Amino acid sequence: MTGVAPAAVASDAYPLMRAPEAKTLGAHDTGAAATLPLRLRLRFSDVAYELRFVKHYVDFYFRYAQVSLILGVLLIAGDYLVDRIAHTGVPANLLRLTMAMPVLLVGLGYSLLPKARGHWQPVMASFIATVALCLIGILVRIDNEGGTGLKSWVGILNFTFLEFYCFVILGVQFRYALASGLVIMAAFLYALWGYAGLPTQQAGYWSYHVVTAFILAAGIGWWREFLLRKEFVARAALDDSRVAAEQRALRLAHYDEVTGLPNRRLLADLAAPALERSRRSGARCAMLHVEIGRLSGINDVYGRGQGDMVLAGIAQRLRSCIRGGDLAVVNPLAQELGVVARFGDSAFSILITDLDDQARASVVAQRLLEAVAQPITVGSQAMVLSASIGIAMFPGDAQDMVGLTRCAEQAARVAVDAGGAQHSFFDMALNARAKDRVVLETELRHAIQAGQLCLHYQPKVDARNGRLVGAEALVRWQHPERGLIPPGHFIPLAEESGLITPLTDWVLHAACKSLRRWSDLGLPTLPLSVNLPASSLADAQLPQQLEGLVRHYHLHTSCLMLELTETMVMRDVATTVGVLDTLRALGFGLSLDDFGTGYSSLSHLKRLPMNELKIDRAFITDAARGGRDAALAAAIITLGGELGLQVVAEGVETKEQSAFLIGRGCALQQGYLFSKPVPQAAFEQMLKAGAIRTADAVATA
Ligand code: C2E
Ligand code: CA
Ligand code: CA
Repeated sequence: MTGVAPAAVASDAYPLMRAPEAKTLGAHDTGAAATLPLRLRLRFSDVAYELRFVKHYVDFYFRYAQVSLILGVLLIAGDYLVDRIAHTGVPANLLRLTMAMPVLLVGLGYSLLPKARGHWQPVMASFIATVALCLIGILVRIDNEGGTGLKSWVGILNFTFLEFYCFVILGVQFRYALASGLVIMAAFLYALWGYAGLPTQQAGYWSYHVVTAFILAAGIGWWREFLLRKEFVARAALDDSRVAAEQRALRLAHYDEVTGLPNRRLLADLAAPALERSRRSGARCAMLHVEIGRLSGINDVYGRGQGDMVLAGIAQRLRSCIRGGDLAVVNPLAQELGVVARFGDSAFSILITDLDDQARASVVAQRLLEAVAQPITVGSQAMVLSASIGIAMFPGDAQDMVGLTRCAEQAARVAVDAGGAQHSFFDMALNARAKDRVVLETELRHAIQAGQLCLHYQPKVDARNGRLVGAEALVRWQHPERGLIPPGHFIPLAEESGLITPLTDWVLHAACKSLRRWSDLGLPTLPLSVNLPASSLADAQLPQQLEGLVRHYHLHTSCLMLELTETMVMRDVATTVGVLDTLRALGFGLSLDDFGTGYSSLSHLKRLPMNELKIDRAFITDAARGGRDAALAAAIITLGGELGLQVVAEGVETKEQSAFLIGRGCALQQGYLFSKPVPQAAFEQMLKAGAIRTADAVATA
């Protein structure tokens, strides 16, 4: 990694990685006008404020000076013409024209230069001093040539005007006016006293007038600047508060309040030029997505305030791990998407620029992991958090920020799934699979409407005599190109994408339709088990909807056995029990599926209004061979019996398994030994027969 100047990445508007301080304008704090004179003096040392002040008024004086310079040119030209007409041929007249005119024109020319404003004050000061010296020269020569220059009141008046002029033209900053005014006064006094043609008395008289004029003009100049500044202070205060408000708005829009880090939007703005630079230079960048685990737990237990403090602390650590040129932003999902907030996890994104080697990204990731893993104090308790980091490389994995972020997030998910506290690089193959899923999801959406789904039925039998006691409806997807897709490939996808709701609707309708058909055909009506997804229990309308459905097909509620897995029931026992009680009261059968794989507590099990317990296939597979699984299966059977539940063993594949289960008191079985799930027509044949003959009778009783 080579260093990158932060300024190259961050535009001026956004200070890098940290929200701009609230009081950026603090240097020019504004106060009451009553304290102004003292503050005026202090302000001279505040260069930035002075520049603002001058900049604000120079534009005005610029135009003002131009007008007065043009006026000066016109006056001198007019004066010359009048003189020429009145007293033809006076050489002094021509002198004024040839000496003062060029000075005025040069001043005018200078004022027309675009960059002139930058040095307006000092240039004007020296300009006026030059004018004054020219004037002295002119007046002395007029006197020498027999006219009345310095000797006349007109000549003195010229200087007095110049003094005033100086304080008016240079009135933005009194200092310059004062300096040039002093030069003029000194030159004038020198001319008065050094000029032999003037009697001492007269020189003293004129000097007195000139000094008085100077003091008067200086007073006016100072007073004017005082007023200008007073107005400016008020105006600047207003501007500052407006700028502060804008900055605050900018901060809120671009920075995270909790951590002070840029948000996603700003990251995109900041990263674009960095990526562009990398593209040109051929260097690489890495996008790190840092997921902090267990943060939501802290929010839940200690409250949002503590959670925020922890987040800010983590942000600080992450920031200390990366160089100035790299970018760190916070992207608290919880704030952006209320729906995801229950996952509560907060994540950070970090862009590392100018990487020469992919392995370097690993090193940084490792450093970040270690930083996060340092104990952090929450309340009075020390806690250890962990992070999972996903890394996406630019330009290898994606070409833009959106793509990079997605890839890094995906890689982070892999790191989380692998147990967390580690980093993982984005993997193209993984991406291909993810894309595959997207395609599948689109197709599934279509499949539900296009009638590509069908139900297969697996009989549930009394293993002692092969009699059919029920069946489980299992959904299949008849894909036009991929063939028959088992539910394991699309049910999880449907659950993630929300398609599970229409899919379940379809399954329930199809199951009821079959039940109706079998009843109409005079086939025995056995309870049909249907698998419900986890999300269905969250729907308070479920009991009413199911009842309406059953009524629609003129069926009895006892025809349907609803299979719920242990895990989904245990997720929120309190509310689930309510829904289940209602379902049970309506007459639906309830079956606890995959029993033994979840973590249900036995005390909860007692509260659940179940009819049936299905022992998971995992316990059955090994059961016949004895050992732990056998003991567990036996225990579950006993437990179920004691709770008054009908116990069903699923996944029975061999006669030994079946016999073992019967021996333990579990006669109701389901599995390949009896039949695989079969299409409707085949199942109707079984229904007609009423029993299943396995190759070799397993019945022992
Ligand atoms: P499940 O509810 O545990 O269903 C039993 C699964 O075990 C079925 O797989 C069935 O074919 C299989 N099975 C039955 N007997 C044996 C056996 O002797 N040996 C072996 N190895 N397997 C056996 P299937 O049909 O692939 O379904 C898999 C899972 O998909 C189901 O597990 C269920 O969780 C889910 N599923 C199936 N249909 C639906 C549905 O309509 N809605 C919902 N939400 N989930 C469904
Ligand atoms: Ca099932
Ligand atoms: Ca099962």
